[in-house]
Amino acid sequence: MIIAEGKPIKEILAMIDGYDKIIVAGCKGCVTVCSAGGEKEVSILSSALRLARQTQGRSLEIKEVTLERQCDTEYLEPMREYADQYPAILSLACGAGIQFVAEKFRKHPVLPGVNTQFIGVTEEQGVWTERCQSCGNCMLDRTGGICVEQIQRLRKIEGVHGIHLMAIEWEDAVHTIVERAGLLPRPEAK
Ligand code: SF4
Ligand code: SF4
Repeated sequence: MIIAEGKPIKEILAMIDGYDKIIVAGCKGCVTVCSAGGEKEVSILSSALRLARQTQGRSLEIKEVTLERQCDTEYLEPMREYADQYPAILSLACGAGIQFVAEKFRKHPVLPGVNTQFIGVTEEQGVWTERCQSCGNCMLDRTGGICVEQIQRLRKIEGVHGIHLMAIEWEDAVHTIVERAGLLPRPEAK
């Protein structure tokens, strides 16, 4: 799934500053699982935005919706019924969903309410790890299920000087992984 996290409320307030009526649109897909843009987050964020506006002495009308998915036209269409009554849409979907809403609702500024982070998995409650760079040429069948693209990305992180490959019953894949990750030739031991 795609992992995202909510933008800071200050940033969102600045983005919606010119609007007194907005749609806050969540997504029941990935961003619900990672607690960034589901029904609960739509409700919490909307309350926080209303409150913040009240303290500024300004009103803010919000239509709260959480769509099945924002990356699928079928689920975006129902928003047309009321979209014209709101001059802007704040989307809490991932970047793909936000772009798709912007493409389908061209008259509306579509504002991002979350920062999309990566494609990953849930390790445990509240902990997500990156697993795929969407490289377009998956070779996990040849690398024992270990993503070479991930290793290449890890190499670029300052302070990382090595990785530990545990190829239990996949020893044959080690050479392919090391080669494709650009780790050959082996450095000289000093
Ligand atoms: S719009 Fe993004 S977050 Fe929502 S289901 Fe599609 S890929 Fe997942
Ligand atoms: S090789 Fe890695 S980055 Fe490429 S598609 Fe497969 S898992 Fe994703």
